[in-house]
Amino acid sequence: MPGKLELLLGPMRSNKTAELLRRAEMRRQYAKQCVMVLKPSDDTKGGPGMVESRNPNGHGKMHAHEFNSADPWEVLEVIAQREQEIGKRVECIAIDEGQFVSDLFLFAKHLLEANHDVLVAGLDLDFRAMPFGEMLNLTWLVNAYGGSITECMAYCTCGARALYSQRLIGGQPAPFDSPVKMPGDSYEPRCAEHFVLPGRPH
Ligand SMILES: [Zn+2]
Repeated sequence: MPGKLELLLGPMRSNKTAELLRRAEMRRQYAKQCVMVLKPSDDTKGGPGMVESRNPNGHGKMHAHEFNSADPWEVLEVIAQREQEIGKRVECIAIDEGQFVSDLFLFAKHLLEANHDVLVAGLDLDFRAMPFGEMLNLTWLVNAYGGSITECMAYCTCGARALYSQRLIGGQPAPFDSPVKMPGDSYEPRCAEHFVLPGRPH
């Protein structure tokens, strides 16, 4: 039977990673499942091989298998090896920072077809407020295979719900055409009123 997909979407600091790790830990502890946590190598939050939540009250760190975000298919071999080692199925694959993963839609679909439950956490929008990677495409898989979509909540400093991730470079709002990756940038959740994007074309 195909697996189900639990999709965790939201802006920066909406506790996506903490929620992913909480669900992974619940499955391990209570459902006695083997859960593999995967982390694309673009992620720099934790040290090597760790997934770390920014939320200090959250689940903290958990060991993760790091993989090349440009080629998630390499992970299939790692899953097969793990299953050989433990002599049973890996019931659940949890992917953090899904927005960075190439082929995410097809990769998640493949895992579901291979009877793994799949958890994916990631940003829905990038700093330009446009769909980030293939995260939003995964909603189709929830529709097709079952599971759930959780919109993780974040709040602007004004108290309103924050739907956007404000990118700051040197403390100033980053312009629309700033490079996708830039050292020294930072992010904070903002509401529509306080989200600023200089140079946006529309
Ligand atoms: Zn605000």
